Amino acid sequence: MASRDGGQSARRPVWVNPLFGAADPASGITTVPPRHRLPDGPAAPATVSRLIRDELMLDGNPRLNLATFVTTWMEPEAHALMAGISDRNLVDRDEYPATAELERRCVPMLGHLWNAPDPDASVGTSTVGSSEACMLGGMALKRRWARRDTGRRAAGARPNLVMGVNVQVCWKKFCNYWEVEPRLVPMRGDRFHLGAEEAAERCDENTIGVVAVLGSTMDGSYEPVAGVCAALDALEERTGWSVPVHVDAASGGMIAPFLDPDLVWDFRLPRVASINVSGHKYGMVYPGLGWILWRDRDALPGDLVEHVDYLGGDVATFTLNFSRSGSQVVAQYYNFLRLGHAGFSEVQGALRRVATHLAGQIEDLGCFRLLTRGDQLPVFAFTTGDDVTRFNVYDVSRRLREWGWLVPAYAFPPDREDLHVLRVVCRNGFSLDLADRLVDDLRGLLPWLRRQSAPIFGPDDATSFHH
Ligand SMILES: *Cc1c(COP(=O)(O)O)cnc(C)c1O
Repeated sequence: MASRDGGQSARRPVWVNPLFGAADPASGITTVPPRHRLPDGPAAPATVSRLIRDELMLDGNPRLNLATFVTTWMEPEAHALMAGISDRNLVDRDEYPATAELERRCVPMLGHLWNAPDPDASVGTSTVGSSEACMLGGMALKRRWARRDTGRRAAGARPNLVMGVNVQVCWKKFCNYWEVEPRLVPMRGDRFHLGAEEAAERCDENTIGVVAVLGSTMDGSYEPVAGVCAALDALEERTGWSVPVHVDAASGGMIAPFLDPDLVWDFRLPRVASINVSGHKYGMVYPGLGWILWRDRDALPGDLVEHVDYLGGDVATFTLNFSRSGSQVVAQYYNFLRLGHAGFSEVQGALRRVATHLAGQIEDLGCFRLLTRGDQLPVFAFTTGDDVTRFNVYDVSRRLREWGWLVPAYAFPPDREDLHVLRVVCRNGFSLDLADRLVDDLRGLLPWLRRQSAPIFGPDDATSFHH
């Protein structure tokens, strides 16, 4: 990526506080480090560390960042555990069998949570995040499709994948990188995610699968997974096409099992072939960690699994990535043991209470309209009321930024590009007190916004939200 000022800053060296050099002239930085080249020689660790901390100070305060789904707080014990094993390469299962064993335990734990038919024999793996997990899920769907009828493949048939237009960008990447045609179901009216009938209508004999999202990054709503499966059952009865479903439960995979146990969205539905979750979202681990499980061995074509023996022992791998620290997996195991089922229910329940409370408070301000209420994912989207003409969501986002809050504003995708929203993501560490502070700050800036004669900012001034 190009630097923001077209390369001018590249020629300027890194700015070093003179104190860092002077504090310890013997080991301080004697020459100023260049910006884009390695410095000529080494410098003292303490000085370099101070220099870097100084630069990183400009990052935002993660606790006030309501844009991201990704974990920004863990217990000190988890920190220590992660730091202590960051030198272990997860893929080196022969050298680090104990770390590997913890990964092997997490997979069936998720299998139980997601009601796999035979949870103790769950088939799955950890990944860098949901993006990698989704690539793997999509690849398995594509390979199963190719297997079903090799003649069709030879004839040059192009595979397609059906999903809502609200899917996270990783699915567009999957389709792009693996040459699968994306069939995106647009939003319509108040339907801001995939509709069951609309999904089935777009399927044909070359559909490798349907992606259902639990829940949508756009507004926190759960897609109707059971409804999608029922529509595909009817389709199969009519046409004989058997279309599997992958559930992208990046966030909901660690929410629904605890807060909505009666909602049937997981492996209880026979059509659900695979499910992914981000361990670094509501699994409450620092980035990067994801998981994917397949319902059984049949759902994961065996020829996608590679065996390597050059690390000692036979290691089966089905990942895009190879070497990676074991810290995140161990931290996930820590969270599982630390919280247990009841602990997770309590933490996620508190988040839902904070989200619904905050949504209600914002509604009570009188000039916003809620699109969702934080009662599915602890996430909600809202827009300005119909009678609000002097400011828009982008103005609100900008003004909140002045108080340190990061609340992204963006336009919905087709066919609701006319709808511009703000979104709040509640994560562990965001308390009811902080929520009340946000409402106070929002209330405090309304008089200023009302004094504007017209909206000032627009979509081009928006901050990104695709976390
Ligand atoms: C966050 C998210 C992803 C991507 O997940 P990463 O773990 O950040 O790679 C994919 N799908 C959905 C629905 C998400 O919310």
